[in-house]
Amino acid sequence: MRVNVSSHDLKVSDHKHHLHPFTEHGALGIDERRVISRADGVWLWDTDGNRIMDGMAGLWCVNVGHGRQEIVEAVRAQMSELSYYNTFFKTTHPPVIELSQMLSDLAPEHINMVFYAGSGSEANDTILRLVRSYWALKGQPGKNVVISRKNAYHGSTMAGASLGGMGAMHSQGGLPIPDIHHIDQPYWFGEGMMTGMSEDEFGLWAARELERAIEEIGEENVAAFIAEPIQGAGGVIVPPATYWPEVKRILEARDILFVSDEVICGFGRTGEWFGSGYYDMKPDLMAIAKGLTSGYLPMGGVLVSDEIAEVLHNEGVEFFHGYTYSGHPACCAAAIANLTIIKREGLVERVRDQIGPYFQERWKALEDHPMVGQARMVGMFGALELVPDENDLKKRFDNVGKVGTITRDHSFANGLVMRAVRDSLIISPPLSITEEEIDVLIASARKTLDAAWNDVRKQGLA
Ligand SMILES: *Cc1c(COP(=O)(O)O)cnc(C)c1O
Repeated sequence: MRVNVSSHDLKVSDHKHHLHPFTEHGALGIDERRVISRADGVWLWDTDGNRIMDGMAGLWCVNVGHGRQEIVEAVRAQMSELSYYNTFFKTTHPPVIELSQMLSDLAPEHINMVFYAGSGSEANDTILRLVRSYWALKGQPGKNVVISRKNAYHGSTMAGASLGGMGAMHSQGGLPIPDIHHIDQPYWFGEGMMTGMSEDEFGLWAARELERAIEEIGEENVAAFIAEPIQGAGGVIVPPATYWPEVKRILEARDILFVSDEVICGFGRTGEWFGSGYYDMKPDLMAIAKGLTSGYLPMGGVLVSDEIAEVLHNEGVEFFHGYTYSGHPACCAAAIANLTIIKREGLVERVRDQIGPYFQERWKALEDHPMVGQARMVGMFGALELVPDENDLKKRFDNVGKVGTITRDHSFANGLVMRAVRDSLIISPPLSITEEEIDVLIASARKTLDAAWNDVRKQGLA
């Protein structure tokens, strides 16, 4: 009883004083919110005494799972030795030196430098300024347009949201900022299928949208192409097999930087260290965050190629940019401990060879459910496309998002956090999840689909 009373008080206070990110406050009932108070491994506990499986690894970030005392201890030790010092003006410190070495060893051979930020959004802000500065330093200041994709997610700051291709975000605050151009995304199930092209044809078509955009804007005006290897927040959109090889061909023939946004794809999510490695792409810059610290402390960064670093190393050149917390010692300590766990436990290889294939097989089997039009997964993240009629996969629910939300709410009630994107469900659990836990996850997902399908038919939505 006491637990419930205090839980309600917490919710009332939260309702009064806490403005949540990405939340429709008018529709969020006081008791509808959950107060998550503890976590261990893949499990969360709320203040109402419920145990819930974290099928989203927080927000795609808790790659090593919750409650790792090794990371906590590393941060504690660093905080007591040197809790803060900056990295501006000719100073540095041991944890930032150690982390930079570690990241350079993990990154592709031609990438050996790191610039630090506080988040993935900040990393992309840095990237936007860096690519434009790079071309200006090379005597081509006109090369300042960045090409991105519709429905991409690159963060929520002015530059991050502008680089991203989310219409709802652009509709507020006068975005996107100038000189960012969005092309169509390689989303076969959502868009390609309706064109009559095969999946492979559509992959080529979507890749060639990049070529068409470059020709239209003029190569001499294009600084970079930025993309997530697999779009995460957009709905775990796995491009057709033809897409990345064609983009590679297009980029190789042109003098344009390629920026891989690895904020979700990095640090094992695809079964490789980086998503660009999974697709055999060679980025000039990589945005990192999320799995870098598994979310234990906030940190982002930009991995910089030798070619770009060389331009910045010229005498008289200064990049007038940095954050007070660039390379924060405690965040570096968290990242080092986190990467040490990923390496020691072989989590990346485990996703590629063992737990990934185990999960993928069971996830894809959900396609036999009448409400699932497609179940896709790469490494350890995937999506279920919910459809009203399994015999006509081009059909969609009216009122986009309604069925997704109904199904997501059932999932929560069944003790599993999945996320709804339009009318699809997203999954992205910690990479440390066990086979037994995956069995529990799949059973909850099936129960969720059954309950939601029942509701959907009762309400006449299908
Ligand atoms: C989450 C995310 C970001 C933004 O990271 P924040 O730490 O939330 O600022 C950028 N890019 C991608 C691909 C992301 O998923």
